[in-house]
Amino acid sequence: MADQLHPKAQSGRWRRVSIRRRVISLILLLALPIALERGVALLNARNQQIADTIDRLRQTVQIVALAQSENISAATAVVQTLGPQATSLMADPAACEALLRQISGEVLGVQGAWIGTIEGRVRCTNARALLNVDLSDRDYVQKALKSPQPAVSDFFVTRNTARSGIAIASAERDAKGDPVALAAVGLDLQWMSRSSVHAGLSGVHIWVVDGAGAVLARHPVPTTIPETMPSAAPLLQAMMAHDDGTLQAPGPDGVTRYFAYVRLPGTAIRVLAGIDPADATRAIDQRILATLGLLFSALTALTLIAIYAADRLIVAPIDQMARDILAAGRDETRGLGEAEVREFEPVMRAFEAMNRRLDERTAGLRNINRRLTALASTDGLTGLANRRTFDVQFSDEWVHGADAGRPLALVMADVDNFKLYNDTMGHLQGDEALRSVARMLAAAVAGTPNLAARYGGEEFIVLLPGCDVAAAVEFAEDVRRLVAALGIDHPKTAMRRLTASFGVAAAVPSLHGSPDALLASADGALYEAKRLGRNRVVAARGPAEAVRV
Ligand code: GH3
Ligand code: MG
Ligand code: MG
Repeated sequence: MADQLHPKAQSGRWRRVSIRRRVISLILLLALPIALERGVALLNARNQQIADTIDRLRQTVQIVALAQSENISAATAVVQTLGPQATSLMADPAACEALLRQISGEVLGVQGAWIGTIEGRVRCTNARALLNVDLSDRDYVQKALKSPQPAVSDFFVTRNTARSGIAIASAERDAKGDPVALAAVGLDLQWMSRSSVHAGLSGVHIWVVDGAGAVLARHPVPTTIPETMPSAAPLLQAMMAHDDGTLQAPGPDGVTRYFAYVRLPGTAIRVLAGIDPADATRAIDQRILATLGLLFSALTALTLIAIYAADRLIVAPIDQMARDILAAGRDETRGLGEAEVREFEPVMRAFEAMNRRLDERTAGLRNINRRLTALASTDGLTGLANRRTFDVQFSDEWVHGADAGRPLALVMADVDNFKLYNDTMGHLQGDEALRSVARMLAAAVAGTPNLAARYGGEEFIVLLPGCDVAAAVEFAEDVRRLVAALGIDHPKTAMRRLTASFGVAAAVPSLHGSPDALLASADGALYEAKRLGRNRVVAARGPAEAVRV
């Protein structure tokens, strides 16, 4: 509708956008910063959550490492106490076994202990199966014999429990420092990894890995057959390069997690804690989803309400106003200016003012049109009807006459010796004379159905509907006398005044007959009047025949 009212004012892309779309754009424009702010806050919270999780992983591995270190320290202390007494303990096997059993039960992580000869033969143990077994090939046995310090083994899988562990051995030495007997304890690494699951994080996986990347223990799935990490694994490389750290990388089981690791002091063993990124961010991701859903619902609801409000509060009143204006344009009575929205009142007032100006202009145009029509139908010099008007009315009257079976007469008049008049009195005087004759003719037809017209030059014609030849001749005779009675001097003629000659013709029109023939008859009669000496009336009898009156 707006396009119909202002087809040109609607140029430009944005101008053509509907109010509904404008409202939606406005809402989006307002909602965007809020949504962005919420989004950034949630992303920050997510990053913070990841940082917190990694921090707690680091604490976890430190706790685990500490627990491991404490266990190794405790085991080392036990072995350091047993070592120097190895020979004397072996002397009383029953007491020795009781002591070792007690140690295994009381010292955290200690799984077993044995005392034996420097050949590596077990002489006293809490685990009877080991009695007299030859353990000389064990690395820690060899190391303990060579070094005065307690020797820590590589990890191994204990035969009886099939769990991974390490062993620590210490030798008893004589006065010369040569080894004479051995004491050793075994530590259960599984126990150590289990002891560490108090970090308060769910979904955490813990590994204990040796210097070559072999998995000694893991939680929650216990290792029986150790996995070995590929030497090129980024996690292993990082662990070999630093004593502690964090990173996101594939773990020993190939699953990518966030990891924190720390090396047990004095050993090549690393404790490693990892958490699935999805586990780390699950809670915050759910919050992000819920917030997004809420934001989307709120935005949708707001947009729908805004569209409804825009329709009711803006579009409907504009439609009403457009209907009012259109009705006013069709001259219907509904009053303008009854704007239903205050902001529209200036528009309605402006439209009313425009409407009034249009009315005035239309009235002016009608006036001009009337004057133009009159100008087109009258003769400029005399103010009489012109030849065009005569032609139209003549053919109309011809048809009416034919319909009604009523006669129609023509009187053709021509001023006599008018050239000579012009030559004698001047052209302006000639014009004035023509105007005088015209005024007289107009007066002669006033109040009758007759039409007087200027036919051209100094010729005039009168159309007399309903008149026969006799009545027309009578009329022409009156006019001839009136011309002479005007008393316009024409010194060079015999009459010494201005006269005119007249040709009269009449007929009952028929639709088959021609009005031109009647015109020709009148013209012929006029010619005859001239020929006979001017200042006279001649009537045509038939189309080719004129008679002197
Ligand atoms: P006749 O008696 O045979 O009609 O002779 P006439 O001189 O009237 O006829 P003619 O046709 O020889 O001359 C007509 C003259 O009328 C010539 C022309 O200058 C004059 N005339 C025609 N129209 C006008 C006009 O509008 N104003 C003036 N002043 N003269 C006009
Ligand atoms: Mg003439
Ligand atoms: Mg003439």
